[in-house]
Amino acid sequence: MNQNLTQKIIAAHLVEGDMQPGNEVAIKIDQTLTQDATGTMAYLQWEAIGLPRVKTELSVSYVDHNTLQMGFRNPDDHRYLRSVAARYGIVFSPPGTGICHQLHLENFAIPGKTLIGSDSHTPTAGGIGSLSMGAGGLSVALAMAGEPYTITMPKVFKIRLEGQLTGFASAKDVILHLLGILTVKGGVGAVMEYHGPGVATLSVPERATITNMGAELGATASIFPSDEQTRAFLALMGRENDFTPLAADEGATYDREIVIDLSTLAPLAAQPHMPDRVVPVAELDGLNVDQVAIGSCTNSSYSDLQSVAQILKDEHIAPSTDLLLSPGSKQVLKMLMSEGLLDLILDAGGRLMECSCGPCIGMGGSPSSGGVSARTFNRNFEGRSGTQDGQVYLVSPITAAFCALNGKFTDPATWTKAVSKPSLPATAPSIRHLFAFPPEDGSEVEILRGPNIVPLSPFDRLPDVLELPVLIKVADNITTDHIMPAGAAITALRSNIPAISRHVFERVDKDFVTRAEAAGQGLILGGENYGQGSSREHAALAPRHLGVRVVLTKSFARIHKANLINFGILPLMLANEADYDSLAQGDVLRIELGALAPGATLLASTSEGRQLTLTHDLTGNEIAIIKAGGLLNYVNDRQK
Ligand code: SF4
Repeated sequence: MNQNLTQKIIAAHLVEGDMQPGNEVAIKIDQTLTQDATGTMAYLQWEAIGLPRVKTELSVSYVDHNTLQMGFRNPDDHRYLRSVAARYGIVFSPPGTGICHQLHLENFAIPGKTLIGSDSHTPTAGGIGSLSMGAGGLSVALAMAGEPYTITMPKVFKIRLEGQLTGFASAKDVILHLLGILTVKGGVGAVMEYHGPGVATLSVPERATITNMGAELGATASIFPSDEQTRAFLALMGRENDFTPLAADEGATYDREIVIDLSTLAPLAAQPHMPDRVVPVAELDGLNVDQVAIGSCTNSSYSDLQSVAQILKDEHIAPSTDLLLSPGSKQVLKMLMSEGLLDLILDAGGRLMECSCGPCIGMGGSPSSGGVSARTFNRNFEGRSGTQDGQVYLVSPITAAFCALNGKFTDPATWTKAVSKPSLPATAPSIRHLFAFPPEDGSEVEILRGPNIVPLSPFDRLPDVLELPVLIKVADNITTDHIMPAGAAITALRSNIPAISRHVFERVDKDFVTRAEAAGQGLILGGENYGQGSSREHAALAPRHLGVRVVLTKSFARIHKANLINFGILPLMLANEADYDSLAQGDVLRIELGALAPGATLLASTSEGRQLTLTHDLTGNEIAIIKAGGLLNYVNDRQK
């Protein structure tokens, strides 16, 4: 059968499953990446699996999110990440080296390889032809243990690019245009696969801008073929040996085709507060811009900043506008310096920030109250900039530079400066010496933890009989926010499960934690749709730490149920919903688990001798995971 590129890479990595869209397939993962904000928990989970060394071809731990060291927590995280990397065979990228996706593209991504990363913009590496996906920290930990990664076999959309970019249009406008067509939900369950004659006109960094924001479409991944542009980029990075040509078979089929004529595109902007609220920049003519921020994993490559420097050359930015620049990596920064481009930007009034995510997640560079910020980033959700009422517009580097120059959005028809097509430099300095490559044998390396990094306690296995008090009875539609509240002060404890657990259900019942601790173990009684909302793993992990062994409900939200299983909590349902009314907080249920098997019901009895029938929809595999005490134990058992 003629296969598209996505199918080819999945087929080459297939461990289990039938590659029909919608079916589950398990694939081998070649590479993993983490960033510091999600990495600490991923590595705590990795440590709990108990293996001596990662089994992937390459795993990299980047520090790019929380690089400000204004207290002990971030530096402690960085020190822990560095020591874990050395111990277990992981490459470590220190704070300030660059943004994970830019660095991965420059230094490690390889056409045809599979990559998962605990960051939603991991699909950036699709610009080089790697099938790259964002994943949870636990999935990354399991991939490092050599376990296959299970995905729903995606549909594949063919995005055919015709013509070539002209005038002031750039790669960012291609993906903003696609967002305007598909919206932020239009890519769910699909891979965006780029084709057509326009592909050859785009360099790898331009392609990576497009694949990066495939995440905003909700897409599983985005991918470009690997061709002469890919070879040229890899050669520039000193990695020509990593080049392999890759393309879809002639006559391959797709689930949908969208044609974009690059030559018709004009500069676009996504308006607050959604990346798909796309309008032509011309429509924003006259809107004052208080701040311009250039950088992020979307638009911080050398060629992006080269365009900015061309526009700012011999000019000064508008006095009322602040211009922030965060190069994507030290390699980009060094190239800007050696080509004299950094001077042009600084002389025009730009401010140089660290090579990190920075303003993209409100780590410095927040706009003023109600201020308009034109950003080359990928997300403009309300409050993300660090200013709740900041008005963030997503634009290309070219548009951003004109905003800085004019202090307002202006119609591109009035832009007079010439901008040549972005080009790759003749040579690029290597920064590989800045990474900490792990020693051959890291077994003697001491893992350094600060007070905020606490190893996961071992999870005990499921006994044959459980006698559990109802620790709390909650109503329908309880969200993961009710179970494990978010907020800066609480999420700072994400690598300290004993500490974060003290906040479980605090917005529902302040005494829950005390009660759970006094009981030692227990059960949560929920209504319909228990665990809806965000997919946060801590909403299962923290209750498990407090001794919750069973959640008994009328029904579950799907992702939370999966998280409960992963952390060894048994998700059961009442066969007779009226039993919900008859149960109260403090009742004790004795549940016989000997009969736990796919499709079988279970019996529970109350202390007064009443019998309840409990159901579940667990598969044999899920039951095995719960019996082992959770996925980490289960994998550990399998690896022995
Ligand atoms: Fe995430 Fe922004 Fe960093 Fe990219 S630059 S990885 S979107 S925080």
